[in-house]
Amino acid sequence: MAEMSLSLDMSRLRGEQGAPEESEQREREMIIVGAGPAGLTAGIYGGRSLLKPLILVGQTLGGQAALTSEMENYPGFPNGVDGMGLSKLMAEQAERFGAQILYEEVTSVDLAVYPFVVKTYGPEFLARSLILCTGTSPRRLGVPGETEFTGHGVSYCATCDAFFYRGKRIVVVGGGDSAIDESLYLTRFVERVTVIHRRDQLRASPILQSRARENAKIDFVWNTVVDEIVGENAVTGVRVHNVQTGETSVIPTDGVFVYAGLIPNTSLFRGQLDLTEEGYIVTDRRQQTSVPGVYAAGDVQDPWYRQTVIAAGAGAAAAIEAERFLAEAAHKARP
Ligand SMILES: Cc1cc2nc3c(=O)[nH]c(=O)nc-3n(C[C@H](O)[C@H](O)[C@H](O)COP(=O)(O)OP(=O)(O)OC[C@H]3O[C@@H](n4cnc5c(N)ncnc54)[C@H](O)[C@@H]3O)c2cc1C
Repeated sequence: MAEMSLSLDMSRLRGEQGAPEESEQREREMIIVGAGPAGLTAGIYGGRSLLKPLILVGQTLGGQAALTSEMENYPGFPNGVDGMGLSKLMAEQAERFGAQILYEEVTSVDLAVYPFVVKTYGPEFLARSLILCTGTSPRRLGVPGETEFTGHGVSYCATCDAFFYRGKRIVVVGGGDSAIDESLYLTRFVERVTVIHRRDQLRASPILQSRARENAKIDFVWNTVVDEIVGENAVTGVRVHNVQTGETSVIPTDGVFVYAGLIPNTSLFRGQLDLTEEGYIVTDRRQQTSVPGVYAAGDVQDPWYRQTVIAAGAGAAAAIEAERFLAEAAHKARP
């Protein structure tokens, strides 16, 4: 556990000081970093506990979920729901209960002092409880050509970029749920999708695998890894090698969509919170991190499931626990 002082200014908790305008309030009962399903659901629960949570969005309202073309497994939507639509509804629901959503990216936190300090490119805040829901970012392949062509032939988001590849040939790198789900989505736009996978079978769920196999626009290149993305002014192919035979070749393509795994967004917390070897935030079953009053929820602490419904559930749990932490602290401070 990191050391910290819990010298609470209880007059604040009891609301005895003057009440500045909400937008001016630097000190908050609950600050939620991240506005994906975990953060937004924490916002709904924190709002319903009358804590007026502040949700700091970072780059994307809805997070990875908002970039998902169609979600078929979120309960309550028998015909599926588009990730952006679902995220907007969650945000609306959080605001309805008093959450404030601010489009600011957190640049640093100080968890060794209390209230915790949360800095953004703009305002700086103090948090009496903190819920970290910063999710994950796509893992890059780390091959020559990837950086140069990112945004011009290399993409990590089919929902964002599929439109630009109408009638073209593309490759998808990966074999998990995201790779296959997004390959299926891409077939609505492109002429051909070639899935390049380093193993001889997919990791995606059986239902996605069978859909992909039945889709005439999708073919597979097994046991193969990408070594380079090639082209002059635009992507023209990927240089690959077969991991079993060592044979190299160039697969012609107009674009590359990469689904090679995810990296937790935890660089801000390194050295301040316990992290796993892979960089995920360590929490107990109640979403508590190694610092009392700091909770984490969603993909940032979940390398196992990475599902919207689970992120949302963890966000709810984190907000309930944070509310209990604040109530306990207020109770202890009573004369
Ligand atoms: C291609 C793809 C398809 C998927 N399909 C499905 C599906 O069909 N069904 C399903 O259940 N799940 C699906 N998932 C998984 C699902 O999207 C995630 O499990 C879910 O979004 C995790 O939610 P989260 O809130 O933990 O994190 P995220 O959704 O990743 O949200 C993270 C949030 O943190 C913010 N953030 C990051 N850093 C900062 C910072 N410094 N300051 C402030 N904010 C910050 C981001 O802007 C974002 O708002 C899919 C994922 C991908 C990539």
